[in-house]
Amino acid sequence: MSSPPSAQNVVPPAAVDSIKSDADMQSTPGHGEGATCSCLEDIMNGVHPCGECIGEILEGHGNRLIAKYFATAISEEVGAEHLDTIKQIIASKYNISVEEQI
Ligand SMILES: [Zn+2]
Repeated sequence: MSSPPSAQNVVPPAAVDSIKSDADMQSTPGHGEGATCSCLEDIMNGVHPCGECIGEILEGHGNRLIAKYFATAISEEVGAEHLDTIKQIIASKYNISVEEQI
């Protein structure tokens, strides 16, 4: 396989936990294992995904086809002060540059 990008590990895991804890996991009932949600569509419309999906995305399990939309959509939920950090996380997890993200 290809070697990991140099951006790997630039974001401390604590930063990910901080963002996840800011995402309101309680207010999004109906999501979770086996549940279907409309988060992919929401993200492309600039609407934040549910807390469950935010966690998955930050761990690198999101749909990389729409990775460039993740940071902005998530920052709608967790706060704009996290946007730069989220972009760095997305950059390292999905192998796209910060500049590519909207
Ligand atoms: Zn969701």
